[in-house]
Amino acid sequence: MAEVVVVVFDFDRTLIDGDSDNWVVTEMGLTHLFRELRSTMPWTSLMNRMMVELHSQGMSVEDIEDCLKRMPLHPRVIESIRAAHRHGCDLRIISDANQFFIETILKHHGLLGCFSEIVTNPAFVNVEGRLNIVPFHDSASSPHGCNLCPPNMCKGLVLKRIQAADSEFKERRLIYLGDGKGDYCPCLRLGMRDFVVPRKSFPLWNLIFSDQTLIKAVIHEWSNGEELAGVLLDIIDRILMDENTRTGLIASPDSGCKTTQVSYP
Ligand SMILES: [Mg+2]
Ligand SMILES: [Zn+2]
Repeated sequence: MAEVVVVVFDFDRTLIDGDSDNWVVTEMGLTHLFRELRSTMPWTSLMNRMMVELHSQGMSVEDIEDCLKRMPLHPRVIESIRAAHRHGCDLRIISDANQFFIETILKHHGLLGCFSEIVTNPAFVNVEGRLNIVPFHDSASSPHGCNLCPPNMCKGLVLKRIQAADSEFKERRLIYLGDGKGDYCPCLRLGMRDFVVPRKSFPLWNLIFSDQTLIKAVIHEWSNGEELAGVLLDIIDRILMDENTRTGLIASPDSGCKTTQVSYP
């Protein structure tokens, strides 16, 4: 099956149940300093400051890796990512976490090779062995101009670029999975043949249902890793079945797809 489906994951509180930044801060004993500095600098700069702190305490990059490897990832989510990849879906991540955290966690679970692209805040280890985290978007030199998104990343612009690169594959359909405020902007760009998969009762879900008429994509909600995996695989089944019907491989349009009932707050 050619790449008919593009699956875009948010990372924190979506692909993983928790938040990788908070996990490292809490597990590595930085909660107090983090709270003290929270109001004084943007989030990405603050996370970089936390890495300076860990380095000054003698913590190595390997210590940070070990901490990230302990972060839970739902087994059903792991299976669903592998299954989506096997089905030929093009899997991507757009995240406001950072490259090092995301790649460490995905590698640990053997999932890194399933993703064609990870768009996030860059991270690198310097000559002193300290992890540096830098903003994806330099808001000082060129603001992205989107008032829905934080200054370092407009996920909508990233999605626009993915959609533009896809224009030669007009049949490709997008599935966007997310939970946060920063996921709302890209969801506004999805079309009628696309799907948005928001985490129930989280900020993205609240924004979507504050005015559902603004969302063109089909909405399927989820609450936990098991539901996320089920919803994702059902949507992929349905799209692939549509595609087979369209190309005449299968005569019957019956997809056998379980439709998730969306509730309205
Ligand atoms: Mg998130
Ligand atoms: Zn935006």
